[in-house]
Amino acid sequence: MQNYVNNHLQNHLNRRLILQSAAAGLTVLAAGCATSAKDGRPRVVVIGGGWGGMGAARALAESNKVAVTLLEPNESFISCPMSALFYAGHEQLSYLQRSYAPLDKLGIRRVRERAIGIDRAAQMVVTATQKLPYDFLVLSPGIEYMEESLPGYAQGRDQLPVGFRAFEQLAVKQQIDTFLSQGGNMVITAPKPPYRCPPAPYERAMMVAEQMKLRGTKGKIILIDANPNPMPPPIAKPVLHAMQSLYADQIEYMPNTEMRSVDAARKVLSTSKGDISYRAANIVLPMRAPSLIREAKLGERWASIKLPTFQSSADDKIYVIGDSVGTPLPMSGHVAFSTGQQVANDILATILGKAVRQPLGTEVTLPAGICWCKVTKSNAIMIYVTPSMEIGQPPKNKFQVDPQHNPASGKASRDWAQSMWNAMLG
Ligand SMILES: Cc1cc2nc3c(=O)[nH]c(=O)nc-3n(C[C@H](O)[C@H](O)[C@H](O)COP(=O)(O)OP(=O)(O)OC[C@H]3O[C@@H](n4cnc5c(N)ncnc54)[C@H](O)[C@@H]3O)c2cc1C
Repeated sequence: MQNYVNNHLQNHLNRRLILQSAAAGLTVLAAGCATSAKDGRPRVVVIGGGWGGMGAARALAESNKVAVTLLEPNESFISCPMSALFYAGHEQLSYLQRSYAPLDKLGIRRVRERAIGIDRAAQMVVTATQKLPYDFLVLSPGIEYMEESLPGYAQGRDQLPVGFRAFEQLAVKQQIDTFLSQGGNMVITAPKPPYRCPPAPYERAMMVAEQMKLRGTKGKIILIDANPNPMPPPIAKPVLHAMQSLYADQIEYMPNTEMRSVDAARKVLSTSKGDISYRAANIVLPMRAPSLIREAKLGERWASIKLPTFQSSADDKIYVIGDSVGTPLPMSGHVAFSTGQQVANDILATILGKAVRQPLGTEVTLPAGICWCKVTKSNAIMIYVTPSMEIGQPPKNKFQVDPQHNPASGKASRDWAQSMWNAMLG
């Protein structure tokens, strides 16, 4: 299976070369676009320099046929995948962090600002200081937390970092380090799907539990799961096996347990099974697309899109990719990155009037995903998902999951991360 996955990864990383050569022979029909750049090329604005945004921005810029602007407020990229290695103390934060400078060399215009609105009628993205016109817009702003779903959370936000977005890792590590040195209870929670990277709460619990064993921490991790089993369902068996065989003394698993409220001052989490006092907490809240998407009327909890193109259901000039999207596809960086490449291809073809829309009933494959659930420093469970659909029907996910954690997947997870980070920012 590892070879199969590596070949697949190689194929999808090579797709940008195909894009480049396809685009090389094209005449760009800039005259047909409402707002071409000074040099006559159509303008594409990409919102979000995460996994999806970089897949799109890079592939578009490499074609050299469009003027690409990337809106991203941060100066560097930090990866959420592999952050468990940082939490457990195996890697420094710098292992997860990369400069955006390689994007500048590709001719991408980087604007270090947040998009605060989208004027769809005028085809403009609005920031605090400017309006950026676009012919096509790619949105990949990730997720926001539904703080209002847990009474008391907003008041205690500073003491309750979630760590499911970049730049929150240091605050989560502080919670973990306090727990590992002082002991007591650490609560980690998992919400009901859909949420970003479903295996991550279980991975986090196990990686901290391994450190408890090594450092002799007196206490336990209480893993409060809103679900009946670890998510997504195909990984339940290997995750439960790992927790029971390796961490029975460190992790107390509480399935089917809903959070009711939190009191950060008293350090008490109220649940459907009673109140739990904690020393450290990592509460993983339910998630949704950022408000930018709702305010632009592109969806409710998640952006509404048309598959397989990822065009907004409300606006053909807008593509929404990555974890902001409401589809059954896995919320994974791997999917987000390859979807970015796919929509770049579609935008280039559309500009040339060459976009092919498949008729109803056609079978198409959708961007595949790989997620890793680390279990120890060197062992992981691999989850490989290949989604496909018949046009007009909902997509279906085919899962291939390691039956048990193993060192080959532990190594493959690190190799995967390096190749993805290189593809984004190499
Ligand atoms: C602990 C953990 C482990 C994970 N492990 C894996 C794994 O093994 N494999 C895997 O494939 N995936 C994994 N993921 C999931 C992966 O991180 C996400 O699926 C991926 O980040 C989604 O990409 P995205 O582009 O949608 O969002 P992001 O990568 O979050 O990027 C969003 C970007 O948009 C920017 N932004 C937000 N709002 C605005 C705005 N208004 N204007 C401008 N910019 C804005 C943000 O600053 C951010 O840089 C993991 C996630 C976590 C939390």
